[in-house]
Amino acid sequence: MKLATVVYQGNQRVGRVSTEETRIDLFAEEWSDLRTIIVAGVDPATLVVPGLSVPLSSVKLLAPFPRPHRNVICVGKNYREHAREFARSGYEAGAVAGKDVDDFPAIFSKLPSTVIAPDEPIALHPDVTQKVDYEAELAVIIGTGGRGISKENSWSHIWGYTIVNDVTARDLQKNHKQWFLGKSLDTFAPMGPWAVTADAVEATDLTVTCHVNGELRQNANTSDLIFDIPTLIETISAGITLEPGDIIATGTPAGVGIGLDPPTFLKAGDRVEITISGIGTLANTCV
Ligand code: MG
Repeated sequence: MKLATVVYQGNQRVGRVSTEETRIDLFAEEWSDLRTIIVAGVDPATLVVPGLSVPLSSVKLLAPFPRPHRNVICVGKNYREHAREFARSGYEAGAVAGKDVDDFPAIFSKLPSTVIAPDEPIALHPDVTQKVDYEAELAVIIGTGGRGISKENSWSHIWGYTIVNDVTARDLQKNHKQWFLGKSLDTFAPMGPWAVTADAVEATDLTVTCHVNGELRQNANTSDLIFDIPTLIETISAGITLEPGDIIATGTPAGVGIGLDPPTFLKAGDRVEITISGIGTLANTCV
C-alpha cells in the first residue's frame, strides 16, 4: 500500500494512493499525520473515508513526513562502487589509501528541517557551497521502536519505505571533518513521493536509478548494499532506542557528481529524478 501526505483544501491530510497512482483515498482529519498512524499501529486501509477519493492531480504532494520528529538517520559509503568513487574523488576527509570499504558503517544524520516535498526546489546555497551533489537512496521507516534489535528481528520493526535524495555539499563535507553541516543545509533532503508499506516491496531487491536532466547517472540494486538493512538496524539500535517514524537512509550507489570525470555538480535548473522500483519517482529541480 502506498500512503501519501498531501495538502487537500488547504490542510494536510494522509491518504492511500490507488494502484494506478491516479487517485487518493483520503483518511479522516484525525489521521492527517503519517507518524500518528504508525504509532497507533492501525491498518491504514481501515482509515479510508467512504466517498473521499479525489484525483491525485488535485492535491499537492508533501514529503511523507514533512517535518520528521527527529533527525533523518543516514548511512555513508554503503555500496562498493560508490565507496571507491568517493575515496578516489578526494572529497573524503580522512580517507585511508587502499581501503575503500570500511569495517563499520558510517552513520550520520540530517536535520528534520532539511526535508522537502516532491517537486519542491533544492536550494543550491551558492553563498556557502559551490559543490552540491545528489544521492539517490532507499529509506527505511521504522514501525515498532526498540533498542538492541537483533538482525533476526529487524524486519518486524520496519513499517515501510520511501525515497530520500541525500543532497550533499561536498566542499563542506570535506572541510568540516564531520558530515553534519554539508548534509543539513535547508532543502537537502527531498523525500517521497510517498511511503510504501513493508509488505508491498522486497527491500533486498529494488532497482535504484537517478537521472539528472534525463541523463542516467546512478543505476544499482539494493542487493548490493555493503551493510544490509538488518545490520544497519542492529548497529544503530545497539545503544539508541529507535522510535516509530524514524527514517534510515541506507546509502547511495555509484554515479554521484564527484564520481564523474570531470566532477560535475548541480547547477540552477538541473532536475534530479530518483526512481526506486515498487515505490515511485521523486523529482526536484535545483534553484
Ligand atoms: Mg548518502
